[in-house]
Amino acid sequence: MVDRPGSGDRTARRGRTTIRKAALAAIDEIAAHGGWIPAWGKERIRSMVEGRPDWCVSRQRVWGVPIPVFYCGKDREPLVSPEAMEHVAGIFDKEGADAWFDRSVRDLQPSPAPRCAKCGGTEFEKETDILDVWFDSGSSFAPVLESGVWPTLRFPADLYLEGSDQHRGWFMSSLMIGIGTRGQAPYRNVLTHGFLVDGEGRKMSKSLGNAPDPQGLLKKYGAELMRLWVAGSDYRDDIGFSNAIVETLSESYRKIRNTLRYCLSQLHEFDPRRDTTTELLPIDRWALSASSGTGQPRSRRTTSTSSTRSTGPPSSCARWISPPSISTS
Ligand SMILES: [Zn+2]
Repeated sequence: MVDRPGSGDRTARRGRTTIRKAALAAIDEIAAHGGWIPAWGKERIRSMVEGRPDWCVSRQRVWGVPIPVFYCGKDREPLVSPEAMEHVAGIFDKEGADAWFDRSVRDLQPSPAPRCAKCGGTEFEKETDILDVWFDSGSSFAPVLESGVWPTLRFPADLYLEGSDQHRGWFMSSLMIGIGTRGQAPYRNVLTHGFLVDGEGRKMSKSLGNAPDPQGLLKKYGAELMRLWVAGSDYRDDIGFSNAIVETLSESYRKIRNTLRYCLSQLHEFDPRRDTTTELLPIDRWALSASSGTGQPRSRRTTSTSSTRSTGPPSSCARWISPPSISTS
């Protein structure tokens, strides 16, 4: 389907592009506006598209989304026509895809009864293979973006977002189907995130029993600590989560909280209308100028998707909100 090894070059020599070539061009186009987040996603999917074999979209399973193709009962000549497909699609709209298995061949064909292009026969059999499930998920942009069920959505999507194992999976199948059926990628940007792992970097699993209970932690430490953990995590890598990590983070949280409490206590009974003055002492002017700059780098970093790696809680936040240490002697 993508193109056969070698045949792509022959096709290119005849002046036609292949799905592979068009997909590679789309990958570069997305990269040109920084749409692969993080940027290494481009090379990852590009090398996979360059080297992938043809996509066999059929699977020999007893249940799934059927392939609506009929075969002549005499010579197995396939019947694939837009009319026959539309007719089946109309039935699926009302009854779901299981109608393919429940209804007779004649029930699934339009009127007048189609004839075999080879022998003129009217006896047909149903295809029994199903579509590869990656075709199902890869075509999800059609019902989600184009059906009108969600009127604010439109094709292509602004963002596809999934784990770092999907360059070979959903990102790839969506790209191939988008290129093959719409002539373009179904997304403008693709964000890849890491996985939630335990404190030792192991995958969380029931059998290992290494997944902390978030509800229990929320009860014990409160939601603010969970928010601080999220704010201090770098989604581009795997993110560690364990009771020990939360314990350590709770100490940082206490520092931030106590600093804020101290700041607020200094402002007790402060009334800006009554207490504000333009005649500042040199020490106050210095304190204001020192504090005005320190918050900026942090706010820039937290609003950018390409922020530098954070190794834990936002400790610069604590520095930012700490009062300058002033010697009054
Ligand atoms: Zn035939």
